[in-house]
Amino acid sequence: MNLKCPLYINGQFIETSEKQNILNPSTGKVIAEASLASTKEVELALSAAREAFDHGPWPQFSLLQRREFIAKIAQGILDNASELAQLEMQNTGKPIKETTFMDIPSSAKTFEFMADNFIDYLGDEKLSILDDAKAILIPEPMGVVVLIVPWNYPLLITCWKLASALAAGNVIILKPSSFTPLTALELAKIIHNAGLPAGVVNVINGTGAKIGEELCADKRVDMISFTGSNETGRQILQYSSKHVKKSIMELGGKSASLIFNDVDIEVAVNSSLTSIFLNQGQMCTAMSRIFVQEGIYDKFLASFIEKAKRIKLGLADNFQTQMGPLISDAQRKKIIAYIDKAKAEGGKVICGGKIPENAELKNGYFFEPTVLIDVGAHSHIFKEEVFGPVVLIHKFSGSDEAVTLANSVDFALAACIWTKDLFLAQDVAGKINAGTVWINTYGMFYNQLPYGGFKQSGFGKELGREGFLEYTRLKNIIIDKSPDGKPLVNYWYGF
Ligand code: NAD
Repeated sequence: MNLKCPLYINGQFIETSEKQNILNPSTGKVIAEASLASTKEVELALSAAREAFDHGPWPQFSLLQRREFIAKIAQGILDNASELAQLEMQNTGKPIKETTFMDIPSSAKTFEFMADNFIDYLGDEKLSILDDAKAILIPEPMGVVVLIVPWNYPLLITCWKLASALAAGNVIILKPSSFTPLTALELAKIIHNAGLPAGVVNVINGTGAKIGEELCADKRVDMISFTGSNETGRQILQYSSKHVKKSIMELGGKSASLIFNDVDIEVAVNSSLTSIFLNQGQMCTAMSRIFVQEGIYDKFLASFIEKAKRIKLGLADNFQTQMGPLISDAQRKKIIAYIDKAKAEGGKVICGGKIPENAELKNGYFFEPTVLIDVGAHSHIFKEEVFGPVVLIHKFSGSDEAVTLANSVDFALAACIWTKDLFLAQDVAGKINAGTVWINTYGMFYNQLPYGGFKQSGFGKELGREGFLEYTRLKNIIIDKSPDGKPLVNYWYGF
């Protein structure tokens, strides 16, 4: 029996007349029927959210009351962890091991962390800056915040945004990707059961083409927090410019890993495999370009290929599966087109590059882990985001050359440096154009550390104090302290 997934608006679960079949990318089979929002439901959500912020109880709650709700959502995610892990696995094709041990617990942890820390992050600051005035700086909520989330980490990215935005006192309209709305709609039930007032969180599923402009351009929305592709990011910035509203843009990447001669090759190879093939390479921080110093290049490449061939592709519901399917057939076609173009530009596929022949996988959107060499720095695939299990491996001689290659693209999201020489690593980290640089590790996200890219990878931060404060606006109140109660302006016209 297929799951029915209603929208959640103003505290009500709403079935709409227009529905969308949600597919399991492992099997191509329909697993759920999700309601799709039309302009009517967008209007309902916009007016409910505005009303909840302007006249509802949520902004009046004390910080301790707000904290209680945030903690209840964390507990609700934990209480439903195994169901959520199943749903995320079925909807995205991520291996069940990943959804069970990464996506769902990390989502709960973000809410727990925010519950424990946001009051410290908010603490209003009273400053006596001058002899004649006292200033009070108050971080206020932004108001109505639209959160737009991609399909690669549907629940986790939702929770990164939602935990901060809610803790800061905002009301929310959440739009998950129309490919992967299931866990967001399940989260709506958890939020409802936690007793948040009606209209504080609204979840509307719909395609960007149909509802994006209406949602983002509306005057009742104060802020947009977007994670997704550059193309969509640019469209959203256009919509939001109509009423000049704050935006956060977490966009694409073409990240580089720099591997120096002195590494433990086994550690560097194992970690590099994870850094590109986890989640089928559908990660904004995927290390899709690996630069290896010439002294270990041949050995690294041979070991990387040998192990890449051993990665176990399989149905996502099998705990032994290491790589599941891509999100859709369209995504797979896009990846194949990138590989064909790379070959035409001189690149060589030395591992994978095709759809697996295994009969068990024939109905899903699987693709083999793929390695290319001899790809020139001017090739499309060197500069553009593929968003799949495809990596380019290159040789370099010195660190300056590696930094130049790493920095030669328009994205600047993340990088990895592998060396035992921590002085070299920190020097190189300082020169790399990226919002996050990992040294001798990969993919470690911490709730206390802000994360976000530079250049075409976007602007604004998620997580940490800085990520939380994105969802606030800073008010400055200045109180005159002139001893006689007569401020300087009193004397200006000499009356
Ligand atoms: P996408 O841009 O196609 O979609 C992202 C979201 O935007 C979805 O919810 C989609 O429905 C919505 N959308 C699409 N058109 C819209 C419009 N016109 N108006 C409003 N909303 C619209 O991206 P995707 O394919 O879902 O995700 C992959 C992309 O996300 C990659 O580029 C990846 O690098 C990026 N990403 C970035 C980060 C980061 O932190 N920087 C994290 C994850 C993913």
